[in-house]
Amino acid sequence: MSYKAMYRVFRPTDFNELVGQEHISTTLKNALKTDRLAHAYLFCGPRGTGKTSSAKILAKAVNCLNPIDGEPCNNCANCQAINEDRFPDVIEIDAATNRGIDEIRELRDKIRFAPANGKKKVYIIDEVHMLTNEAFNALLKTLEEPPEYVLFIMATTEANKVPLTVLSRCQRFDFRQIAPQKIKERLQYIANEENLQITDEALSLIVRRADGGLRDAIGLLDQCAAFSADGNVASEQVLAVIGSLGEENTAALLTAIIQNDYNDLFIQIDEYLSMGKECGVILWELLNYLRQIMLLKIKQTDMVVLSEDILPRAQAQSRQISLKQLTALIDRLSKARSDLRFAEQGRIIVETALLECALLLNAAYEEEAPKETPHIVKKAPATKHTPASENTASQASVPSAQNVSDTPKIALEKPEDILKNWDKILNAIRTESIQVYAFLKEGRAMGLENDELIIKFDSKHKFHSNKINQNDNKKIIESVIERLTQRKVRLKIYYEEKDGDFAAKYDLAQKAKEVFGDILEEE
Ligand SMILES: [Zn+2]
Repeated sequence: MSYKAMYRVFRPTDFNELVGQEHISTTLKNALKTDRLAHAYLFCGPRGTGKTSSAKILAKAVNCLNPIDGEPCNNCANCQAINEDRFPDVIEIDAATNRGIDEIRELRDKIRFAPANGKKKVYIIDEVHMLTNEAFNALLKTLEEPPEYVLFIMATTEANKVPLTVLSRCQRFDFRQIAPQKIKERLQYIANEENLQITDEALSLIVRRADGGLRDAIGLLDQCAAFSADGNVASEQVLAVIGSLGEENTAALLTAIIQNDYNDLFIQIDEYLSMGKECGVILWELLNYLRQIMLLKIKQTDMVVLSEDILPRAQAQSRQISLKQLTALIDRLSKARSDLRFAEQGRIIVETALLECALLLNAAYEEEAPKETPHIVKKAPATKHTPASENTASQASVPSAQNVSDTPKIALEKPEDILKNWDKILNAIRTESIQVYAFLKEGRAMGLENDELIIKFDSKHKFHSNKINQNDNKKIIESVIERLTQRKVRLKIYYEEKDGDFAAKYDLAQKAKEVFGDILEEE
């Protein structure tokens, strides 16, 4: 027997097997039992929710020779022929392929012939919204006065694109997204039937990715099964198939955000991108994970789709973050996702968005924010001392040295003093701008030469180095140093593309090492 796609093999054969659309199957079964079928139905709803499967079941139910309680028997000649797509009175038209022009014309020509084998001639028109206007008009004529023996079943993912004249002649059913738990149960059932061993995390991954569509979920399971040589499907196989991050990694990202561990955050992002994960996938997974955390927080546990392994960690995380913070993070990441569509540098969007998420959760940052306003007001007069070429925005945010006490907090007698006190300087910058601090922290102060403070970033921190190289950020650092040391320094940022570049360019590095090697070796 040739290979048959899993979703075809496990297509529901009767209403009882239809997953998650009980409101529809019950109504249809009742109509069948009482012989009160409409002559045209419109099945609306997202992809993979059972619209065409239901159409096939209904086509069987009306033509079945031994229907049982509104259900097709799946045994009689008619049921079997329909299951094998060889029943002349069930005609399927896919409006998406060629917009249905020829098919609808043929439909009009042949509709006057009574069914050949069955009780009813059933036309199933999939993606009906794709029909051309001409085809819609032709269809409308037949819908107005259909022969007794004709049943129309139209399916669409976009009911709003179906003309009102057509809509008004159909009985409409809205198919719902299928609840995650129901998809999970169905996948587990299929896995058992197919002798597949699948872990709970793997199932959850598939369910989350399928986003309420059972057909997509089964399709993914099928691919994962093909990917696994020995009939075992664990999260690794699923991750390989869907290119997803996985619960562990996503949870780790959130931990770095909650703990404000910027370094770990950037290392993780770098790692996932170098593993070939796409920027959009990282954002999507994190968003989805945050949604699960939110569901845990508001105690909607039956809607949560997480594997049992990750659940305790997710619960712990849900206690570390407030609902307000959660919605702020979700907002920020959603924005990043839409920014991504127009961006060439997806990496920067992901890095900035995740860094901002961490900042949003930074309590110190929140506490400082309100203090900034009086701080700026107090220092406003100082702006007249600054050169006219500077823009006012940066003047306002950069505290000027003149307003601070004249005693330097750090005595800068020898060039190495600035390196010895680097931690103090970093801390002062942290209170000024946590963002600048986060970037600067990854660089290394290499030495002071002719009032030029050289900061080196290694090859892994190009993004950080670019950020610090921005004028506004440089000014913040320079002014903090000026305030602390009473000395004007200019920042010189050096980004080391390859290890050793710096030493080759600056013999200063060597000199610095000779003078205070012990400090530089620390790390
Ligand atoms: Zn039958």
